[in-house]
Amino acid sequence: MSLRQKHRIPRRRLLKGLGSLAAASTLPATAWSQVSGFETDVLIIGGGIAGASTAFHLAEQGRDVVLLERGEIASEASGQNMGGLGGNGWGSNPNLLSYLTAGGVEIFKRLQIDLGYDMEFRKSGTLTAIHTEEQFEFNQDRVIRLRSEGYQVELLTPREARAIEPQANGDLLGYVYAPERGQADPVKSTRAFAQAAAAAGAQIRTGENVVSITPLSREGYAVTTATGEYRCQILVLATGAWCGPVGNMLGLDIPIIPIRGQMWATAPQPPRVFSTIGSAESSFVWSKDNGADASHPPNLTHKNAQRLTRHLYGRQRKNGEVIFGGDRESLGYIRHPEQAGIDVNKAHATEVLPLLSGLPISRIWSGLMPFSLDGSPLIGKISLRDSLFIVSGLSSSGFGRGPMAGKLLADYIHTGHMTQVLNESDPDRCVTETA
Ligand SMILES: Cc1cc2nc3c(=O)[nH]c(=O)nc-3n(C[C@H](O)[C@H](O)[C@H](O)COP(=O)(O)OP(=O)(O)OC[C@H]3O[C@@H](n4cnc5c(N)ncnc54)[C@H](O)[C@@H]3O)c2cc1C
Repeated sequence: MSLRQKHRIPRRRLLKGLGSLAAASTLPATAWSQVSGFETDVLIIGGGIAGASTAFHLAEQGRDVVLLERGEIASEASGQNMGGLGGNGWGSNPNLLSYLTAGGVEIFKRLQIDLGYDMEFRKSGTLTAIHTEEQFEFNQDRVIRLRSEGYQVELLTPREARAIEPQANGDLLGYVYAPERGQADPVKSTRAFAQAAAAAGAQIRTGENVVSITPLSREGYAVTTATGEYRCQILVLATGAWCGPVGNMLGLDIPIIPIRGQMWATAPQPPRVFSTIGSAESSFVWSKDNGADASHPPNLTHKNAQRLTRHLYGRQRKNGEVIFGGDRESLGYIRHPEQAGIDVNKAHATEVLPLLSGLPISRIWSGLMPFSLDGSPLIGKISLRDSLFIVSGLSSSGFGRGPMAGKLLADYIHTGHMTQVLNESDPDRCVTETA
């Protein structure tokens, strides 16, 4: 009897109503600790939104899937982010960005409205504040271009913006309004994808830190954690900012850089802020020089410990907290929040929403975002190894883009055909053998 037949992981497909993480762990823990090997068709490492969505969409297609996460589901960036969903609609000629953003919103709608998961999702729109004449001209051109490409975006006067967001500063020069954008709770949403994956038959295994990966001589991989060994035909890396070290286990250099993002929150307030809120300052600065070089990804707020610009995103959570963040700094795996950056961000947010001047910060936190060096995601096959796939490099926008990235990768794995839209995210452009 082959190892696959002997330890085949039971399928519990489409167990409607078992949409909880507890249900995901119905396989008795003893069974996992008493034997040394399990086999599955597809093994996904990483329980962030990218891995959880890939697991959900593959399990829905009827594939045997095991997802291994070293912490809890959503314990890293996918649970620490602001919860903003980007995009300006599909446009008249959808590209990868349109798929990841507009397609992502459709997947959020499906999980919350059709499948009944509470993700605190709503299509709130985003208002991006314009502070200077230069930013105004830049955004005027940008809005005209985007609209000519079929995207939904408007330039509003402060008065028009205040009709949508009464607390927005009426003394600024204007606002870009993106009605297709939304928001959702990061932890609830990421867990919803894992729960939906489990309900469709996937095994979600938390507390499983992958420590080594060995390609097998005939096909597939042996993946070792502290509790045992898993064998799979197909391996998916969804390890976010840790794709570098996990890639090294396979002798690969995966150039994904951890970038620290940090956030702060006020104490819960009555409903005051209805859209997601941003500022045009950073995109204007990055349009002139995005700061990328051989070791720095584009569009960071800091380089070599110097601030290049201020970036801003925020919203009010359903629990009443007003939350904001924006800094993006390359500091390796250093991740504790830094108060000076938080203070700059609070001042920036207060320029847009003056009510924040009277609201003290009640808590701060940070997380590590997976940035690729060229700014594009890595979604697809790594052809230096057999049956190896990756879904990562989703940078500062992976909460919104992860669901569709996972679906596109699941479709690729299931059908064996890569949709053309993934050309731009081909991992082979940058993944190499380790030196
Ligand atoms: C402060 C902040 C604000 C942000 N705001 C937004 C926003 O508003 N909108 C937006 O779209 N995006 C936002 N982002 C970005 C977004 O959170 C990320 O792009 C996205 O969550 C990445 O998802 P992921 O699944 O690729 O990675 P992660 O969520 O990091 O998941 C990777 C998982 O892999 C696991 N792992 C790693 N190594 C191993 C191993 N050896 N064995 C087992 N498991 C392993 C980790 O524990 C982790 O859970 C923000 C990020 C931060 C930090």
